[in-house]
Amino acid sequence: MTNRKPATVAVRTGIESDTQYHAVVPPIYLSTNYGFPAFGEVPKYDYTRSGNPNRGLLEQALSELECGADAVVTNCGTSALNLWVSAFLTPQDLIIAPHDCYGGTYRLFNTRAKKGDFKVLFVDQSDEQALAEAMAQHPKLVLLETPSNPLVRVVDIEKICQQAHAVGALVAVDNTFLTPVYQKPLTLGADFVVHSTTKYLNGHSDVIGGVIISKAAQHAEELKWWGNCIGATGTPFDSYMTLRGLRTLGARMRVHEESSQLILNYLQSQSLVKVIYHPSLPEHPGHEIAKKQQVGFGSMLSFEFAGSFEQLKYFVGKLDLFSLAESLGGVESLVCHPASMTHRAMGEEALAEAGVSQQLLRLSVGLEDASDLIADLDQAFNKAKEAF
Ligand SMILES: *Cc1c(COP(=O)(O)O)cnc(C)c1O
Repeated sequence: MTNRKPATVAVRTGIESDTQYHAVVPPIYLSTNYGFPAFGEVPKYDYTRSGNPNRGLLEQALSELECGADAVVTNCGTSALNLWVSAFLTPQDLIIAPHDCYGGTYRLFNTRAKKGDFKVLFVDQSDEQALAEAMAQHPKLVLLETPSNPLVRVVDIEKICQQAHAVGALVAVDNTFLTPVYQKPLTLGADFVVHSTTKYLNGHSDVIGGVIISKAAQHAEELKWWGNCIGATGTPFDSYMTLRGLRTLGARMRVHEESSQLILNYLQSQSLVKVIYHPSLPEHPGHEIAKKQQVGFGSMLSFEFAGSFEQLKYFVGKLDLFSLAESLGGVESLVCHPASMTHRAMGEEALAEAGVSQQLLRLSVGLEDASDLIADLDQAFNKAKEAF
């Protein structure tokens, strides 16, 4: 069926597909290998590294959600990005990536470039001049991450795709923060979408996984070949779990969004909060672009703590309902200090360049009742004020 809404695709993919027992929910196939019906007759699935029914269903759901031709589900988001550069770059080729991309992505591209696998340029993609200069160097690939992690900066997908295509480059968008419920990069001109399914798509903080979805069938085929070649693919159990998590994506994203708006309202009145970063705020530099290319603003937000660094640490320690942890997009609320946690691999210089300060805190707003979350923030702010 065509043009089904994301929530429907997420719930229905694979339901009632079992032909043996008519199980409503598709069963799990843990077998590593599958019999050949006869000599020389290759079955649909022969060996789980190259393909498996559970991974196949998840790939089907994710490509339909992102409006792509096909997908490769990988063992993590990082390996989806690694698969992409492995398949398309030679040592002469250049990739352009955001200067404030996910810390692990920065480390991956930077380390592999230092080994001579390809060339990389980290660019502030909202700086038109810097981006134009980078494009003039004829990149083979361009990665966008919008909204970015942790500053939720937004760049114009459609515009940058046109610029990249004009110089013959292919574009991937890391859509981890919004999911296809709120943004569909392939419909805006991108060639690939990458996700850490570890985050919102699985949504329950119990599976590490990733995916790369291609708009063109030929790219999808090439990536499938490479995924099997380098062994980047996801396991049946993880695929089963992720499809199970994906079922509730539409409902979860709605509550994440509603609660984050209430929390933003609260934070705006809080004296220990200096700058708030979220695309829904009219003063956010990417607000207009976000309104144009996103269906929702998303629920990841960050802010500069206005007190001292000691006070910041004290505040974080007093939170009950925000666990101090990395990752994001799960049912549970999290607080993260990017400079010492998710983004520490970048090093001080790159952190400063990306605008990630020691005062920055990032919130992943979970599915607890919003009034409890706000009460928790409020008591921790009050304790931080009283103690200093
Ligand atoms: C977590 C994350 C990744 C990496 O994914 P893993 O599943 O941890 O390997 C990539 N991009 C973004 C935006 C992320 O948040």
